[in-house]
Amino acid sequence: MAKIIPEKEIPSLASELTKTHTVYAPVIKGDETVFSEINDSAEIALNYSQTPLPPKMYFLPANEELFKVVDDELQKAGGIKPFIVFLNLKDLKAVNYLDKIMQKEPADTFYLQRRSVSTLVATTESAVGSHNGSDLTLEKRNNSTYLAHSFTEKGNKILKSSLFKEAPIPEKSAQEPLPNHFDELLLDSGLLAQAVEWSRENSPSTWEALGKICLSCGICTYVCPLCFCTSTEDKTSIDGSECTRCRKWDACTLPRFAQVAGGHNFRPTQKDRYYNWFYHKFVRAYKEFGQAQCVACGRCQKYCPAGIDIEKILTRLVEDYKKAHTKKT
Ligand code: SF4
Ligand code: SF4
Repeated sequence: MAKIIPEKEIPSLASELTKTHTVYAPVIKGDETVFSEINDSAEIALNYSQTPLPPKMYFLPANEELFKVVDDELQKAGGIKPFIVFLNLKDLKAVNYLDKIMQKEPADTFYLQRRSVSTLVATTESAVGSHNGSDLTLEKRNNSTYLAHSFTEKGNKILKSSLFKEAPIPEKSAQEPLPNHFDELLLDSGLLAQAVEWSRENSPSTWEALGKICLSCGICTYVCPLCFCTSTEDKTSIDGSECTRCRKWDACTLPRFAQVAGGHNFRPTQKDRYYNWFYHKFVRAYKEFGQAQCVACGRCQKYCPAGIDIEKILTRLVEDYKKAHTKKT
C-alpha cells in the first residue's frame, strides 16, 4: 500500500500546513506564475515551468539583516519560523546544488540556518526513484492522483495528514516530460566547460558582440536559481550607537561589481563581465563541483531585456569548439 493524495486536495494540504508553517508555493497571478506565501484560498500551480524569481529567495533573501551591534552588544537576527516550499524538480535540483555551494567552507551559516528550518515538497510528472533531495515528492500518476514519496522525517510528518489515503499504487498514465535540447546540453558539463574556456581566446567576436548587446542590468543573475553573489554593508545610526550588518543580492554583470578601493575595476567592460558570468557557471563551477551551475530553467533568457539566449550561445560555442577540434585531428 502507498500513500496517495487527490490533486484537488493539494491546496487543502497547503492551507492545513499553514497552521504550523509558513508555506510558499507557485501561484498564478495575472499572466505569470510567481512564488507567494499561501493563505487559505490560494490555488497552487503545481505544473509551473518558470517563475520570475526562484525559490532561492527564501533561503538567501534579496535583502537581509544579518546581525546588529547596539551599544557594543551583539544582537543576532531573530529566529525564523519553520517554512515549507512547494517547487518543481528543476528548482529542487537548484536548491540541492546551492546547498553544496553554501556548505563549502567558509560555510554560509545564514543560508544553512534557513535550510535547516525548511521543508521541500517537490511535485513532478516524472517517475521518482531514489532520494532526490526533497523531503517529500508528490508524483503525478494520472489526471487526478499524486503518489507520495517521503525521504525524511519532515516528509513523514506531512504524510500524517488525513488528506493522504492508503491505496494500491495507481497505474501511471501521466505523461513523462521529455528532456529538451537545453537539458541535453547540460548532460556534458565537461564539454561545456571546455567550449566556454576555449572561446575566450578563440572566439573573441562572440563575447564582443554579446558585450555590445548586454545592458549590464543584472536581471539574469537575480532570476537565476543558482546565482548567489551578495554584497554586504554596515548601516550606522546617526549617533553611532547602533550598526546593522546587511547583505543584498549582487550581480557580477553589474558595472561596479569588480570595482575596488581607488576606483580600479577588474572587469571594466560589459564583454568582460558577461564572459565572467559564463565562466563562473560553466567553467569554474565544473572545476569545483563537477557540474555546470545551471539547471536549464530558462529564466535568464526569458527575462533578459536584451533577448540574450544562453541556450543558443552554448549551442554555438559547442559547435564551434567541436569544429575547431575536428579540423585539428
Ligand atoms: S539580463 Fe541580459 S542584459 Fe541584463 S545583464 Fe543579463 S545578459 Fe545582460
Ligand atoms: S537557465 Fe539561466 S537562470 Fe536558469 S539555471 Fe541556467 S543560467 Fe540560471
